[in-house]
Amino acid sequence: MQMIHYSSCTAAKLYSLYKALAKAFLCQTRCLFERMFSVRTLEGPYFCFVMACLQLLFLLLMYQRSSSSWSGAFMEKLPDKWDYSKLHDVYFNLSFFSPASTEDLHHCPPKSPLLVGPIRVNFHNVPNMKRIIRKNPYVQRGGLYTPRHCVAQYKTAILVPHRNRETHLRHLLYFLHPFLQRQQLHYRIYVINQAGNGTFNRAKLLNIGVREALKDDEWDCLFLHDVDLIPENDYNLYVCDELCPKHVSSAMNKFNYRLPYRTFFGGVTAVTPEQYLRMNGFPNSYWGWGGEDDEIANRVNYAGMNIVRVPLDIGRYKMIKHGPDEGNNANEKRFDMLTKSHKYWKVDGMNSLEYKCISKQLTSLYTNITADIGEAPIEDKNSVPES
Ligand code: UDP
Ligand code: MN
Repeated sequence: MQMIHYSSCTAAKLYSLYKALAKAFLCQTRCLFERMFSVRTLEGPYFCFVMACLQLLFLLLMYQRSSSSWSGAFMEKLPDKWDYSKLHDVYFNLSFFSPASTEDLHHCPPKSPLLVGPIRVNFHNVPNMKRIIRKNPYVQRGGLYTPRHCVAQYKTAILVPHRNRETHLRHLLYFLHPFLQRQQLHYRIYVINQAGNGTFNRAKLLNIGVREALKDDEWDCLFLHDVDLIPENDYNLYVCDELCPKHVSSAMNKFNYRLPYRTFFGGVTAVTPEQYLRMNGFPNSYWGWGGEDDEIANRVNYAGMNIVRVPLDIGRYKMIKHGPDEGNNANEKRFDMLTKSHKYWKVDGMNSLEYKCISKQLTSLYTNITADIGEAPIEDKNSVPES
């Protein structure tokens, strides 16, 4: 269904496949040699050398086959399959499909017939809430949607950490609702607000979002989504990879549609509830800008998983331009904290999450959660803003 770039996950799978094949190959070849040369057992160094050469050859062949896509995700730009000069309006043909009667409802097909590829995204006009509501008549209270003409195969919760970014939120809602409807998903958008003016804590807000969302439904997938990132291709399906946490915003315009660095895990990511709990969620201790996404990438590995990435030609996002936020100065301790993350990940996360839910309102386009998340330790307050 999804053309995902299985960079590290595939490497692991390929390696175990290679081991199994090599073992079988070794066994078969030995039997053949034994028959051909009428010897009982072949254990000598010559035989081992020949086998090693054959294995090396096999490895080289496999590497050559996969190398174009293996390293390609972060080393070089893949050739574009998509023509981003031919764009569609995100609302194009959305009401084209009339609903079937309730008895006739079938499962939605594996590939939605509504997908168009590259979407026109710009931020010239800030849409008002009434307009967004009017354009999305089938979105239910709390920002919940379920396809009308088929039974959705998949349930995704979108979690957006938020404070003082109302304009960005309106852009996101305007684009994301029709985008997800094109994919025929059952979905719900949650916005998790940090109460007060204390130092912002993105990762903790996401932990809260997960906890609250899992009280509402058994979600197949959790999308952890910055408010200022708008997807540009509706083939970028908002579903999870069953085996590995998925980095979705692999190509952001801010970074010239490439990864800024090899292990980047910021912006938009997708995990199943099981994967999220396996890594003990996100750290609660990163106050201010930066570092938490790298710690999360570390956690994926500590919990014995790998990261998969959406290919660069599909995982494209436009970021709404903005300056530094008040109350979100760069976290000066982040580098130091990252060196210790392997010691603390099991005790700082979902199992240590404390907050006070101040309100949970179902608005027309999203579920609005406001939480008191406490304050950063005093020494964090003197950090310097990021330029
Ligand atoms: N954010 C917010 N209010 C703030 C700071 C951050 O809502 O004052 C949220 C918002 O979802 C934003 C995300 O945290 O997209 C990441 O912060 P930021 O956009 O500053 O990070 P960067 O642009 O460096 O990725
Ligand atoms: Mn941003």
